[in-house]
Amino acid sequence: MGGLFLAGVSLVAALLYGFAAISFASGTAPVGSADAALARLIDGNKRFVTGSPNRVSLSAQQWTELAKGQHPQAIILACADSRLSPEIIFDQGLGDLFVIRNAGNLLDDHVIGSIEYAVEHLHVPLIVVLGHTQCGAVTAAVAGGEAPGHLKSIVESLSDAVAMAKKKPGDPVDNAVRINAKQEANALTQSEPIVAEAVKSGSVKVVAAKYDIATGQVEFLK
Ligand SMILES: [Zn+2]
Repeated sequence: MGGLFLAGVSLVAALLYGFAAISFASGTAPVGSADAALARLIDGNKRFVTGSPNRVSLSAQQWTELAKGQHPQAIILACADSRLSPEIIFDQGLGDLFVIRNAGNLLDDHVIGSIEYAVEHLHVPLIVVLGHTQCGAVTAAVAGGEAPGHLKSIVESLSDAVAMAKKKPGDPVDNAVRINAKQEANALTQSEPIVAEAVKSGSVKVVAAKYDIATGQVEFLK
């Protein structure tokens, strides 16, 4: 009896697990709205924070579907910091996120071009600019002084956000992380021609967010 019960539980778990796996690999699903994509990320981050991620291996069918083309639900511009892999912190799988990363999650022509590709050709409805706590690039920019090599260009790109952050009460690094993400989100909404037009037409939303390395929590910034 106990064995039967356990077998039943396993069957239900297998069914649920299989269902989760199907809904998880949305790289194969049609692209939805920006709000639906945002809800997916919020739900995924909740699963990650509570230690109950869906992360599963792809089925043979999902490999085949992914090989036919990509339909990511969100573009993520994130810092290169090894502690905030977007697929992991949002509990998403292959094909779900179009991710661009560099130290300080900065915008330049290559980054904007990559975002334009995803908006124009992949019709991704949501762009998230994701800063994070304890960001080395932002910390260096707040500390000031001469940065070696090409790090100088990263520090210089953060200088506006840092100057504004230092005028505000509170921790200047945290302030600068927030200001930088919001400035970039704002710049993207005005980035002509492709992203700005997509935002105006309502086909794309741009949001700023901050990942907390100590808690795993993503805070979407107003
Ligand atoms: Zn960083």
